[in-house]
Amino acid sequence: MNLSHHPRNVAVLGSTGSIGQNTLDVVRFLPEQFRVAGLAANQSWEKLAVQASEFSPNWVFLADSTHHQQLKQALPSGIKLLLSETELLAELALTTVDTVVSAMVGAAGLRSTLAAAEAGKRVCLANKESLVVAGHLVMGAAQRHDAEILPVDSEHSAIFQALHQQRGLKRIIITGSGGPFRGHSSEQLAKVTVAEALNHPTWKMGRKITIDSATLMNKALEIIEAHWLFDLQADQIELVIHPESIVHSFVEFLDGSVLAQLSPPDMRLPIQYALCYPKRCVGPARTMNWKEMFQLRFEKPDTTTFPAIELGYEVCRKKGSSGTVLNAANEVAVERFLRQEISYLDIALLCGHVLHAHDYIPNPTLEEILALDQWARLEATRWINRKITISQP
Ligand code: MG
Repeated sequence: MNLSHHPRNVAVLGSTGSIGQNTLDVVRFLPEQFRVAGLAANQSWEKLAVQASEFSPNWVFLADSTHHQQLKQALPSGIKLLLSETELLAELALTTVDTVVSAMVGAAGLRSTLAAAEAGKRVCLANKESLVVAGHLVMGAAQRHDAEILPVDSEHSAIFQALHQQRGLKRIIITGSGGPFRGHSSEQLAKVTVAEALNHPTWKMGRKITIDSATLMNKALEIIEAHWLFDLQADQIELVIHPESIVHSFVEFLDGSVLAQLSPPDMRLPIQYALCYPKRCVGPARTMNWKEMFQLRFEKPDTTTFPAIELGYEVCRKKGSSGTVLNAANEVAVERFLRQEISYLDIALLCGHVLHAHDYIPNPTLEEILALDQWARLEATRWINRKITISQP
């Protein structure tokens, strides 16, 4: 098949975010291979209109309906504005979409990720929360409908690349930079500010994932994500701190051999790998400079100072509804921390509280998941309100 006559039609969900913009950069670099079929964003309507003018998709979707009128006026003619999530889900199922880049933030990405899996599409998955919240539903739908779930998360892309259909996997070793507070004590962490938490040493990302990286909750979510993507148990998933973010993860086989994937920290590479798989081609991502020497360091994670890590392992062992409530509590905690209403240390405390307070369901349906997500957000809010009341004189 001559690919130049068959560009893949890509729907980018979360197109105005960091992953979305990097995806469009890859598409811009490989115009013969990809065509943008649709763009969806949460509320950045102006950015969405600019993207629509450049890429001429069939449709756009904006979750925040208060700006529909302004967006409609800014859109070039001939581009359909979808008015509801139901319309978006219907578009994803049509043959005009081959590949769905799922890059929305948080549990809000669950329905569209599920719809793409149910429609048997290639899903380039950056929205790890949809696996954390409902991994059994997403992977089950993908299997039933022959959908490909390809990881975009750099660690999982590294594992996917290093595995390359080889058998005899023993375990994986996920790497993490350690975030901006690597080496800090709990006493130091009690005083950190939002600005410090947003200052990630190696990756430039959106606010939610940057805070998750500062608490190491991102690693917890990635441990759960790996459990679902690669069908591994908690004791087969190791975590190693690697401040340079060059080795994106390791794979260890039964014979003791270890393979890794290395590249500069640039999300365009894992995005392109998922889009082009199984083909490799020249792309826009930065490449290694072998003329310049460098060192790679590896350290043990500090699970006492960063308790979020253990919450990830706990969810990985318990499964069922525990990922749903951990994720919901974390989304509330991150939002309230960004608004300076709770402290950095409160984030993991709040997540632990909600996880341990919930009524566990072993195999929840989508309805049960959505209800538990709501309950966990309310319980998190109650916890914060109690705390604020107590701390006031
Ligand atoms: Mg990652």
